[in-house]
Amino acid sequence: MPIPTETVGSLPRPLKLQEAYEDLDQGRITWEQLQEMQDASALDSLQRLEKTGELYVNDGEQRESSFATYSITDTLAGTGLADNLAGDGQFFAIFDDGHHRQLPRLTGGPFRYKTFASEYVTKNKAATDKPVKQAVISASMMMLLYPLEEELEGYSREEFLSDVCDEVEKDIRGCFEAGAERVSIDFTEGRLAGKNDSRNPWTGKNMLQEFIDLNNRVIDRFSPEERANIGIHTCPGGDCDSVHSKEVDYELLLSKMFELNAGYFLIQCASQEDKEAVYELVGKYSRDDANGVPQVCFMGVINPLSPEVESAEQVRDDLVAAAEHIPKERLGATDDCGFSPFSRDLKPSHGSPDFARDIAMQKITNRIEGARLASEALGI
Ligand SMILES: [Zn+2]
Repeated sequence: MPIPTETVGSLPRPLKLQEAYEDLDQGRITWEQLQEMQDASALDSLQRLEKTGELYVNDGEQRESSFATYSITDTLAGTGLADNLAGDGQFFAIFDDGHHRQLPRLTGGPFRYKTFASEYVTKNKAATDKPVKQAVISASMMMLLYPLEEELEGYSREEFLSDVCDEVEKDIRGCFEAGAERVSIDFTEGRLAGKNDSRNPWTGKNMLQEFIDLNNRVIDRFSPEERANIGIHTCPGGDCDSVHSKEVDYELLLSKMFELNAGYFLIQCASQEDKEAVYELVGKYSRDDANGVPQVCFMGVINPLSPEVESAEQVRDDLVAAAEHIPKERLGATDDCGFSPFSRDLKPSHGSPDFARDIAMQKITNRIEGARLASEALGI
């Protein structure tokens, strides 16, 4: 089988759509009007991804407030926030350019999603004949909604975590039931867990093992056949063309991440200074048998934060180099991250989100061609 390819999830939202989110927050348009614009952008994403030749298509998260918050709020400003949440939670991440992203704060139980990703899958399936993938958020990100130190009265941390696992399981199962062929779990907090940034207290609490154990509590509820199509995405962040944890030693994460009993991994690599070192670590720690599934390693060969388009030949060379360390039958190609994980993102290095959307399509096209060239070069 030739080297498989897959997107992480998001595409830049057109400026027009970003303004419509703002219009909803300001009460200038209705939720129905925003949804019409989301649907139009989603259809454009699907049609343009079909043209790139990508096997699994999606809407590029045009309907999500963000990869992390789609299940609990309609917009980043907090319009449509789910029950038992307030807007002023802890920072999820502080990025290198100084901007930050904040999570809502849990105020009591029970914790319930208000939106499941299967809604997007259902809409996308109706709009394309191609197989569909969907990204979902991890249990470990949702864990950060609970106060870091104290217990909430009447809703213990353990009760909360049990509810989180149930909601995330329901989210993943719902996507498959709605017809998604692939479901990947965003796990950007994995790398960030090693940061130890005093401005962002949770990153100093050494939570990586807790994150992995909690995510496995969800993943282990699925059969090996299901887990073959459940992926994990790791990255050092990718928002407003900036990162949150690229300086954190990658081995801290990679030596642990493959304990997750997932069938595939979407792994940032193109933007690493020493790609060879990443191939080695992935080859060393990924498993042929994770409780019944081989772990297929999709290496990032595209940097979504840079407007410079990687050539197909460059992608080919990266994958051929990766195959020196990662078994060919467990090698795939992806992008380092989604192209715009948050709905509001002006893509400053690109100059505009509309231009960044065009660039994303060129990058994806070259990734797919590069994977084809690498398969040829490797005789697979
Ligand atoms: Zn990412």
